[in-house]
Parts: sequence; C-alpha cells; structure tokens
Amino acid sequence: MARKKANPAKKEAAVKRTEAPAAAAVEEKSVEVQTVPAAEAKKPKTKAAASTESAPAAQEKKTGAKETTPAESVPAAEAKKPVSKRAPAIKKTDPTQEETAPAAEKKEIVAKKTAATEKKVTSAPEEAAPAEREAVSVVEETIPVVEEAAPVYEISNLPRRSVAFIGSECHPFVKTGGLGDVMYALPRELVRLNCDVRVILPRYACIPQEYQDKMIYRGEFYMDMGLTNRNYYVGIMEYVWDGVVYDFIDNQEFFSAGNPYLNLVDDIPRYCFFSKAALAALNYMNWIPDIIHCHDWQAGLVPVYLRTLFKDTPVGRARSILTIHNLRFQGIYNIPTIQYWSGLPNEVFNMGALQQDWVNANMLKGGLAYADRITTVSGTYAHEIQTAEYGERLEDHLRYHSGKLRGIVNGIDYGMWNPETDPALAVNYGLGNVLDHKMENKLALQRELGLEQDEGKFVIGLISRLTNQKGLDLVSAIIAQVLDGNTQVVVLGTGDKQYEDTFRYYENTYRGTFSACIQYDEARAHRIYAGADALLVPSRFEPCGLTQLNAMHYGTIPIVRETGGLKDTVEPYNEYTGDGNGFTFDRYEAGLLLDAINRAKTLYFTNRYHWDEVVQRDMAKDVSWENSARQYKNLYLELTPW
Ligand code: ADP
Repeated sequence: MARKKANPAKKEAAVKRTEAPAAAAVEEKSVEVQTVPAAEAKKPKTKAAASTESAPAAQEKKTGAKETTPAESVPAAEAKKPVSKRAPAIKKTDPTQEETAPAAEKKEIVAKKTAATEKKVTSAPEEAAPAEREAVSVVEETIPVVEEAAPVYEISNLPRRSVAFIGSECHPFVKTGGLGDVMYALPRELVRLNCDVRVILPRYACIPQEYQDKMIYRGEFYMDMGLTNRNYYVGIMEYVWDGVVYDFIDNQEFFSAGNPYLNLVDDIPRYCFFSKAALAALNYMNWIPDIIHCHDWQAGLVPVYLRTLFKDTPVGRARSILTIHNLRFQGIYNIPTIQYWSGLPNEVFNMGALQQDWVNANMLKGGLAYADRITTVSGTYAHEIQTAEYGERLEDHLRYHSGKLRGIVNGIDYGMWNPETDPALAVNYGLGNVLDHKMENKLALQRELGLEQDEGKFVIGLISRLTNQKGLDLVSAIIAQVLDGNTQVVVLGTGDKQYEDTFRYYENTYRGTFSACIQYDEARAHRIYAGADALLVPSRFEPCGLTQLNAMHYGTIPIVRETGGLKDTVEPYNEYTGDGNGFTFDRYEAGLLLDAINRAKTLYFTNRYHWDEVVQRDMAKDVSWENSARQYKNLYLELTPW
C-alpha cells in the first residue's frame, strides 16, 4: 500500500539502512532480494577495481576555427522598417500549401467532420495521418474524403500497450537538454495513443522541492550489486501526473549530488545501479511492461540486464528499445570497473557487445547489441551514425545492427511550447497576430537584456549547451561581421568555460548589441524564442535538435547547418519559389554560416513581405509529437504483435 513519505527522519533512515550490514538488510526484505537472480549472488568475486582514472569521454574536444570568409553585409540604408506588418493570407485552398494550415485548424476540420458523419472507426491511426493531412488542403465541400481520419481521437479503439521509459532526466524534474524534453513529452503523447506509461528516473536530490513533496512512497527493497558484496537500498517514490506514472529510484548514496551528471568515476556506478534497480523495481511493483524503452548510455545496460541477469524473472519477458539521443556520450570505462559495478557475466564483455577495445567496456554499445530495436531521433542522424564522420567509433557496430535501427524525429510539446498561452512572454500571440505581437516581444527582450530598443534591428538568438558539438567556434569567428549596426545577437547557455568566456568578452566589447546570458533559464529561453527574428543552430552534429522546432513554433526563423535532425526539419528557403522555412548551410565552415545569416538578413531587410510569409509558415508547421508518437507506437506494436 502506498503511504506518504512525510518526514525527513525517514529519509535519513533510508541512508542509514543503505549502510547497514548486508545480512541485516537481506533479513528485512528477503522477498525483494529475489528479484535479482540467485546465480548472480554466487558469482566468483574478483578484486574490486575501483579506479581513480579521470573521465575520458566527458571531455569534448575544443576547436577554434578561424575561417572568416568575408560576406556581403547588409548596408545600413537597407535596414528599412517593415514593409508590411499585415499577415499575408495563407491559401488553404491550394493543395500545394497544405503545410501552411495551422495544426489546430487541422484538428478542428477533422473534429467537425467526425461530428457530422458519425462514421464508425475502422482504420488504425497510422493510416489516418495522410488522410488527415489531405483534409487541410481541401475546402469544406470535399470533407467526405477524410472520413477515415477520425480514429486518431478514438483512443479506446487503439491497441493498448504498456511501456516503461527508463532514462536519466525528464522535464520538469531535471533537465540538461533535449533528452529531458523527450522524456516529458513522448510519454504524455503515448498516453493519448492508449499506452500505459511509467517513467523511471533517479531521485536526484536536485529535483525541486515542490515535486519532491508530491512524491508518494511506493516501497523499498535491497538489491545486491555486482562484485561489491553489499546490498543497496532501493526506494521507490511515485508521482502520477496527467496519466503518466513517474517512479523515482531513491538511494542517497548515489543521487545526492546537485547535478545529474558528475564525472564518469561517479557516473558509471550510479547508472549501473540505476539500470539494475529500475528493472528490479518493475519486478518489485509487479508491473511488467510489454516494452522497456531505454534512453541513452545511462540506461544502456538495461537491455543487457534484461537478457542476462533478469532473463528468468517476470520482467524478462519485456521487449526492449534503446533510443540514442546523442551518440557522443557512451559510458566508456575500463572493463574491470564496469564488471565490478554491473555484475554482468563474462560473456557480455566481448567485441560484439560491451567490449570497446583491449581495456575498455562501453555501456551504450552493449545496450545496442542486446536491444530488440534501436532508434535515434531523426532519419538523417540514423544514416550519419553509420559513417566514420559521425559514428563516434561505433559506426561498424551500428552498421552491423542497422536492420533494427531507425530514425524517428522528435516533436515538441504544444502544452509547454505555446506562444498563445506561454506565461513567460511579454505578450502572447498566435498565427493571426504574430507580426504585431512579435515586435512587442522583441522590444521587451531588448529591454530585459539591456540591448538598444529598436524594432528595426534584426535580432538573432542562440540557445544552447555551450559545447564543442554546437558550432560555437563558427559563431565566435564571425561575430564581428554579423554585428553590422543593424543586428543584435543574444546567447543563452552554459557549458565549457572557453565558450562562456568568449561570449562574455563579446558582450563587453559590443555593449548594447550583444548579450551573453551565461545561465540556464527556461523562462528566458521562451522569451528569446518569442522576441528574436532568427535562431542560430550551426551544430557540428545534431541528432535532432529541439531549439529549431521551438523557434519555428514561435515564428522565429531557424538558421541551421544541414546535419541530423536539422536537415530533416528545416527546409531551406528558396528565393525563386518562396518555399522553405529557414536558412541552411552544409559544410562546417564559418564563411558558410555567415553567408546563411546574410541571406536571412537580406530577406528580412529587403523583402519583409516574404519574410513574414516564412514566419507564418513556420508557425503553422506541425512540429508536435503527434506524428512521431504514432511511429513509436507502431514500433511497439511491431515488437508485440498479438
Ligand atoms: P541538446 O539536447 O543537445 O542540449 P536540443 O536542441 O535537443 O539540444 O535541446 C535543448 C533544449 O534545452 C531546448 O528545449 C532548449 O530550449 C533548452 N535549453 C538549452 N540551453 C538552455 C538554457 N541555457 N536555458 C534554458 N533552456 C535551454
């Protein structure tokens, strides 16, 4: 029975129990210990290999490209005020313009139709998607064409599946990047597709108190771990929210730091513990999902445990999916250390599974070998990671497993990202009034950041982790040319000191036109998406990228490098046809980035009518989770075809 974990004294007791002698612990909860196969406990004990080596993979290389191809800058005279603030009408009757119809409108049309026809639901939602899209491009008289689209909203007619998400971060509890967004949004969307979803996360001490207070004590047990010869406390704290159950794995020995990621010396044991405890918790709760959906290297050992130590336990019947959100991070450490903490049998430490080279094991690599399916967060990235350039030394392994690999692009949560209701914005706006109200948000942003308040200035935003992945060396190489008197740049991010200091330097040098917000601030991120005209994402590689999607949804035009999900989600603007929804460049060169920025500026300053059309097209583009969640659901059904 669930009971509230009300007082801190209990918390303290939990810590103490963690340190209790193994025998006593086993006595206290002997039933739960059975969740770990007995064979494991009998493993020959090798010498502990607690290493003090420094974290190798955590350090990203830093480069400093200095290419500064001169590009045409926009002359001051051209920096005209908007030619027209009126919203150009979107042609809903033109079938070639189907993308321009707002998502909400799409739903309305389908809903209207459902009521009018009261047709019996017959087709799967996956089949309904094209028909639904067709509905947008036709006028009301042609409505019968889309009669089959209605099933999307008939949840009870969809096959039901249970899914356990296992990952290391989830908005709003803890988030450092896109993974946190996906772990929040995808389960909620899956609930709407008739999935029963549990999200299993570490109970980090840094989770805000307001959420800690809402958690309910769900149970506890003790679990042995690898060759440590100890039993570890596993508490389960639960929070149910909007149809999704969140189970937090509690152990203060592992999760009391103020940050989810520390360094590999600490992270390897904590995520070995977490992966095993998550499966043991499912057994303990007697909640056996059809699918276990794991995310990134922190949950990389889950598919390995599932097919080894947990194979003969109830959870062993679940099928597993491993999603790669960023291949750069793999959880690599020397073999004895990973063996020591994980307790995995010798046979998984071979070159086909966990073994990376003569000395190291790779937790993600093992997961990829044992998972039933592998996904990554865009189609292009799924191809790229099979090449030496993007494969991070796993390209051969991924090519070998390419038969079970596929790309499903991320979406954004329209509840969390909605300019019409966003409480962080100075002024809310929608597709109908974006051109007027975006200006007000721009002025408010300039005021907030101490920039010169001038609605005629072209404001470029950059919201990012400040790491080598994000193309910041390109940005820093061209700042002087970008700041031509008509342009302002706003950077929001934290990360490598080198980049933080570079942007601080630019803020100091270009006061009033360059703003460096070296911080993590959700609300400010929302205001930048709303107030900027364009958003830069010049990444060296980008598995999916969410900032360009957020930007488009807020009517801010993305300027991106054609890689990974950026390539899949941003169609380059074509000055001859007027098509496209952003500005792009291909090779990783500063000159090409500058060229893309200048193309954007030229359109902004010389043809505002067409610029505004792109703004509206971006806002109308469907970047929600709906379509992607359906693809995940299909994948679940493919693995569980009963
Ligand atoms: P990654 O996962 O590689 O960090 P993504 O583009 O997939 O990059 O996701 C980044 C997410 O984190 C976006 O939702 C973005 O708005 C948010 N974000 C990044 N940096 C900050 C910051 N400094 N403050 C607030 N939000 C941020």
